[in-house]
Amino acid sequence: MKNNSLIYLDCQATTPLDPRVLTAMESAYQLHWGNAGSREHFVGWEANKALEKSLQCVANSIGADRDEIIITSGATEANNLAILGLASNPSKSRNKIIISSIEHPSVYEAARAAARTCGCELVIIPVNNQGVISYDDFEKMLDEQTLLVSISAVNNEIGTIQDIHKIKLLCEKFGAIFHSDSVHAPLCFSLSTDDADILSLSSHKIYGPKGVGALYIRRDIQNLIRPLFYGGGQQFGLRPGTVPVPLCVGFAKSIEILSSEEAKTERLRIAELRDLFVRKTISFDEQFFANGSLDSIKHPGNANICFAGYDAQELLSIIQPTLSASSGSACHSGIMEPSHVLKEIGLSDEHANASIRFGIGRFTTENNIFEACDILEAALHKAKRR
Ligand code: PMP
Repeated sequence: MKNNSLIYLDCQATTPLDPRVLTAMESAYQLHWGNAGSREHFVGWEANKALEKSLQCVANSIGADRDEIIITSGATEANNLAILGLASNPSKSRNKIIISSIEHPSVYEAARAAARTCGCELVIIPVNNQGVISYDDFEKMLDEQTLLVSISAVNNEIGTIQDIHKIKLLCEKFGAIFHSDSVHAPLCFSLSTDDADILSLSSHKIYGPKGVGALYIRRDIQNLIRPLFYGGGQQFGLRPGTVPVPLCVGFAKSIEILSSEEAKTERLRIAELRDLFVRKTISFDEQFFANGSLDSIKHPGNANICFAGYDAQELLSIIQPTLSASSGSACHSGIMEPSHVLKEIGLSDEHANASIRFGIGRFTTENNIFEACDILEAALHKAKRR
């Protein structure tokens, strides 16, 4: 996206709002601002009609029924509801939770909290240097004690696509529930209820508004999940609180756009831009390389480049304010720690700290890619080589 000469290449952090989504939301804010739970008047009925239509659209996109969709504030809440909601059920008969070693903090911190507070055993499955789990090792970890497996469909840092359908089939063999944090999946393939028992979605990762997401929960396991908080009984009591109808309308619009034919050609266009970007950036220096998986199992818009010999934080600050991208580093007590995902795929601290994630998206142009490469090349001349 180019806006007053800003080039935004951080589409896995968040995507810009699609103007068509904004138009749909503007109309919803004017017409459907009521409380969808107000059953006694027209304003409430109209809001409820818009909400039901939006929920149906979210459900249809993955082949679910409308009453299998719970609206949340985003994927962080959806992941917590799935993991802690299941783990905190006092009548659960199993207690093992398996997650991969490259999960998003909203999965691994929720799973760690489940281990601390709900008597669960947490087992972590490693990944190979492309970010893929070993399905044989995974099958060996599964047993009759396995309550839940939570593995993301698409990694947010290196873009690796996991075979979640295969994981679901293996879970089924042992009666384990499979949850997948699938926030980036709609941009990569057609996600469906065949892929998991519980799925987390987030609107702002797919050109919709921030502050809304969803959890698909297969109908027959909904009674196993305890709510995270209590209130007015909305959404079957699983996630009480007034539902933000205009945000849901925007979320549904972003899904509708992705469900169209346009989305398939968009994926190809974005992957071509990504490949061009990777080719150009790694050609700057023979020590530079791309992190993560092969293109066939990779998010089309994800490029994670290791600028070996340079400091990613320094490069990112030099390219401000013109070019937006990010490192996977996390700040712990004022100290930058290298990305756990990059460490898990085998990078040294030095290489992890030299890596930058670029997220190419719907509004990225070929010109943006050329300009971004020029900006990076100039930054490399300015930066200190270690
Ligand atoms: N999971 C993944 C894989 C993500 O990339 C993110 C966003 N960084 C989240 C969960 C959290 O999503 P949200 O911002 O909607 O809470």
